[in-house]
Amino acid sequence: DREAANHGRRPNRLVVLAGPTAVGKGSVAGYIRENYPDVLLSVSATTRSPRPGEVDGVNYFFVDDAEFDRMIGAGELLEWATVHNASRYGTPRRPIEQALEAGRSVLLEIDLQGARSVRAAMPEARLIFLLPPTWEELVRRLIGRGTEDSAEQQRRLETAKVELAAQDEFDYRVVNSDVADAAREVVDLMKIRTAPSRS
Ligand code: 5GP
Repeated sequence: DREAANHGRRPNRLVVLAGPTAVGKGSVAGYIRENYPDVLLSVSATTRSPRPGEVDGVNYFFVDDAEFDRMIGAGELLEWATVHNASRYGTPRRPIEQALEAGRSVLLEIDLQGARSVRAAMPEARLIFLLPPTWEELVRRLIGRGTEDSAEQQRRLETAKVELAAQDEFDYRVVNSDVADAAREVVDLMKIRTAPSRS
């Protein structure tokens, strides 16, 4: 089909969801975790502190710098990056490999650097870029969630500009106007099959 013709990739359901800060990646990923249980949502390790309501082992594995260093040294991370010049975030390798071996779809919700690293390590990964309806709406969402102080908000908006400029590197773009609609689009993109002769 078109997907196979365009990319020539092996059938594989590793999907990376990236996009600028506050676009709603976490909301879309959370919606998929709740409503599409057949999809494995990768749980990243991070050195940042939990926000109110976040649960260790569900939203992230919250670890300290020493433990993060150990994970890097032991080769446990498929990729890792320092995001917004602050905390480190990384994708545990083993759960992903196990799920893919078992034929499950895997979704990674990571930043642009991570998306590039995954593409380099696993070229068959499908990359989806989540877009805000407008720039003004992105600013509104970032300020509205109120989890960062204004200096941090400014830093994240600068990063968002750089990230938006990289959207053409992605295989697909999904606009997040409505979380349920965006989640359905992402899952539909995960399900696109490559040509039968490749599977
Ligand atoms: P937050 O602190 O808002 O949860 O996440 C900040 C950024 O880190 C988001 O852009 C998120 O996608 C990214 N992120 C989360 N987990 C990972 C990961 O495992 N690797 C990379 N490279 N980025 C991640």
